[in-house]
Amino acid sequence: MKAIMKQTAGPGLVMTEVEKPTELGPRDVLVKIRRASICGTDIHIYKWDEWSQSRIIPPLITGHEMAGEVVEVGSAVTQVKVGDLVAAETHIPCEHCYQCKTGRMHICKNLKILGVDTNGIFAEYAVIPETVLWRFSKEIPLDFASVMEPFGNAIHTASVTNLLGKTVLITGAGPIGLMAIQVAKVAGASTVIVSEVDPLRIQMARENGADVVINPAEKDLVREVYKLLDDGVDVLLEMSGNRKAFEDGLKCVTMGGEVSVLGIFGGKIDINIDALLTMRGLTMYGITGRRMFETWRIADELLRTKKVDLSKVVTHVLPFDQWEKGFELMLNKQCGKVVLNLD
Ligand code: NAD
Ligand code: ZN
Repeated sequence: MKAIMKQTAGPGLVMTEVEKPTELGPRDVLVKIRRASICGTDIHIYKWDEWSQSRIIPPLITGHEMAGEVVEVGSAVTQVKVGDLVAAETHIPCEHCYQCKTGRMHICKNLKILGVDTNGIFAEYAVIPETVLWRFSKEIPLDFASVMEPFGNAIHTASVTNLLGKTVLITGAGPIGLMAIQVAKVAGASTVIVSEVDPLRIQMARENGADVVINPAEKDLVREVYKLLDDGVDVLLEMSGNRKAFEDGLKCVTMGGEVSVLGIFGGKIDINIDALLTMRGLTMYGITGRRMFETWRIADELLRTKKVDLSKVVTHVLPFDQWEKGFELMLNKQCGKVVLNLD
């Protein structure tokens, strides 16, 4: 079968022919991959940045966002059957640590990540443990089911607090920020302000329903937000991973407001916590992954009932063979989500 691999330590990936997996553990499932989408993590692995060098052990099949069909199940599998359409949670939990036992599998102490610590889904077939499979509703198009995992990030970040009637600032309108605009709107946010520096993504933020989009490279974000809202915003959803965006975002939050941080900064950042967080009585939440499986249920319902429409987030669907074009689009940020079609 064809697979996209990190064959050796170094930049780049290759599409190559590998053996179709034949051995299934008792709780493993063989999935025929039908759609696979490219995530920022895949780009880190492609570039072979510091994080990838410390984490990835080649040879490895990369990729983790997918929609596929169950074609074979291990002897002890009970939750899915041949023919089911499934998406996968990327966080593979151990199911026996403190966190797993107390309903917090997404922060399992012994977490393994699909396509990072184990062979991933940029392949015609993948072996995935049944624990992380989600049978999605048949009404959901495969192109959208493929991005349910990052969509879950947007939902998880936006659902730490009740957004009904709240004013919200989203810093960063990458694919997840774009999805979060719609999630905040569905949750009843009264005003969604977005800060974004990239022209294409500014346009996409508008198309996905942002009430106001501010480019902090052109205008002072804090001043603009307080011009619009005397009290600043109730809630900040940090989705840029940019230090300046986060710092200015905190300044935009009203005293006693809430902050939900998804963005990854890739190292230490220097922020005056006393002045910006503690003395202003803010509550901050760190978000990793998706709640298993509350977030997935919400993602499924919002897509099944079309309360959220991802057609303006998924900008490209390409044949699997054109994966290099997909990576190029992602590297140059000329896209929202890029989905590869393996049918
Ligand atoms: P992305 O990198 O595509 O999006 C980030 C966006 O922020 C880009 O559009 C970029 O132009 C914008 N940006 C950069 N500097 C900015 C600034 N100063 N002000 C406003 N916007 C700015 O990433 P994504 O895939 O949408 O993911 C969003 C963030 O969430 C990333 O930091 C990613 O690493 C992180 N992430 C975290 C988790 C988790 O579990 N915590 C999971 C997935 C992604
Ligand atoms: Zn665990």
